[in-house]
Amino acid sequence: MIFCLHAAAQPQSSGIAEIVQAETPELIALYQQLHQHPELSEQEKETSRLLADELRALGFDVTERVGGYGVVGVMENGDGPVVMVRTDMDALPIEELTNVPYASKTPGVMHACGHDVHMTVWKGTASVVSKLRDRWRGTVVFVAQPAEETGIGAKAMLADGLFTRFPRPDYALALHVSSTLPAGTVGYHAGMFLASIDNLHIAVKGRGGHGAAPQQTIDPIVLTSKIVLSLQSIISREIAPTEPAVISVGSIHGGSRSNIIPSEVELALTVRTFEDQTRQHLLNAIKRVCDGEAHAAGLTPEEYPQIKHDGEFFPSMYNDPKLTAQLASVFRQTLGEQHVLELPRELVGEDFARYGREQPPIPTMIYSLGTVHPDRVAAAAAGQLILPPLHGSLYVPEPGPSIPTGVKTMSAAVLSLLQPKQTDRR
Ligand SMILES: [Zn+2]
Ligand SMILES: [Zn+2]
Repeated sequence: MIFCLHAAAQPQSSGIAEIVQAETPELIALYQQLHQHPELSEQEKETSRLLADELRALGFDVTERVGGYGVVGVMENGDGPVVMVRTDMDALPIEELTNVPYASKTPGVMHACGHDVHMTVWKGTASVVSKLRDRWRGTVVFVAQPAEETGIGAKAMLADGLFTRFPRPDYALALHVSSTLPAGTVGYHAGMFLASIDNLHIAVKGRGGHGAAPQQTIDPIVLTSKIVLSLQSIISREIAPTEPAVISVGSIHGGSRSNIIPSEVELALTVRTFEDQTRQHLLNAIKRVCDGEAHAAGLTPEEYPQIKHDGEFFPSMYNDPKLTAQLASVFRQTLGEQHVLELPRELVGEDFARYGREQPPIPTMIYSLGTVHPDRVAAAAAGQLILPPLHGSLYVPEPGPSIPTGVKTMSAAVLSLLQPKQTDRR
């Protein structure tokens, strides 16, 4: 009893740092193994098996094949809240050009979004939590999610009973590597942090014919040009200047020769914003612009552009402000004030957002893990180099400082939410 009282009074980071230091060489080896053997979305067979085995060895109750190759590991440790820690597992169809000795051995596939770092931190955190069972009360649910890049994984795991077959979390946590923050730091943003994503494909029909006789045609190239420009006016004229939103047309394809007016042009665009209402306004406005321009060109309603979603939609990511404030303070205690940075919002997306949007809502928080050597961050700030971005063939995190920083912060976060005194509040 005296031991328990003493333990509860310790700062979150005490005990964690020692375990992390002892386990870092093993974690780096795991990271390198994962990096060498990347698997694409929905194909995470070996990766998920490896992670399931790691959790079983730590004493978790493990279930595999949840929503595809998803893994769920549960550890119950008395009465208290349920905390979920999520990693993603999938890699990208990119040829690695980093030249690191542990580069991908699978041609054309690379962990270029740092999900190998996420998995390693997740395993390291599971290890800390399992070894410090006398320091917390409650339940931890470690989730390894497939298919984040395609936006399918979180949805598939939820549909397969993640919150009904397993303990429903009171809090859900995740991190994501940053290709701009220095290794040894973390960053956070309270409230809306990451954008919703809708990728759309639009088939713009016309009536094709000879380039010399445009009067006998309805030219879809001219129509598409008008649509592209009108789409750009939606943001500037219909959305408040204080509200971030983007419509970017990333692809436009049509026609084959200079003297043929084609009968169809294809557009691909990405739509990003934060508020659900703004998202709905943008989607409605895109349809209105397409139909209106097609009508003006003389097409009938049956010939109006056909708009389809290209892949899954990502909801915007909301970091619960109370939870974020609490964990930011835990991070400062763990790493020191100067290693915890407040970040602006970003218009990238994360399907981790889906977990927080279940009813009733679950407080969620995702934070950023610095992975770049501080000298390179300084050189980039001085304009001497450009840091390789995520999803680029040259992105290479500094595993040495980054992984222990991730494990320390995530472990401290989990322990802070599972303190016996918090149990009394419920
Ligand atoms: Zn990614
Ligand atoms: Zn990612």
